Amino acid sequence: MVLQEMKWATFRLLFYSYLGFCLVTGIGGFLTLPVFTILCLGDWRFWRHIGLGYRVYLHGWKMFSKILTGENEGYMFSVPLRSPPHSVPDRQLAKLSPTWELGNSCGPCNQCCSKFNCPILTEDGLCKGYESFFWRYFNCGRFPSNQREIEYYACEKWLVKPHKGGSYAEDPAGDYLGEEPVTAID
Ligand code: SF4
Ligand code: SF4
Repeated sequence: MVLQEMKWATFRLLFYSYLGFCLVTGIGGFLTLPVFTILCLGDWRFWRHIGLGYRVYLHGWKMFSKILTGENEGYMFSVPLRSPPHSVPDRQLAKLSPTWELGNSCGPCNQCCSKFNCPILTEDGLCKGYESFFWRYFNCGRFPSNQREIEYYACEKWLVKPHKGGSYAEDPAGDYLGEEPVTAID
């Protein structure tokens, strides 16, 4: 487990370094487009995403400024370095709100993507980076990570379970929908 955690931490640190290289040089991401697109879009065929390039670059600086000001608890830095990648929320931590009627679907909502005008969100409301490295290792795949995050994005779908005595206790009135926690680990 320690080795796994070291691997996850190393991947995140390398990604931070790569992002820094891209942002500071201004051309790093463009010179390494296949690397960028495989990490952020899960697709090395960079020519299919050329139109995104400049928007993603500007978005990177926008998000960096939000990290510096500590908005949303530091965004990417709020994900612990050694935590496993996630493709779904941790069901021991979060549950569907009893008032949410669409089950696991988000329906037409995309508030947690559109709040920052994420350039990876398509006009149809789909994420072009679904299941990519960035998506799994940072905030997107694991959303929500805490109640403050839910409130920040005004998400009506999720609730974070009550926290008792250092462990997340099952809410007696909670609704797991019979799902087991699922974590994508690689
Ligand atoms: S804010 Fe909540 S309901 Fe809306 S897209 Fe995000 S996770 Fe889904
Ligand atoms: S899940 Fe939303 S915020 Fe995350 S990369 Fe996809 S579109 Fe952007």
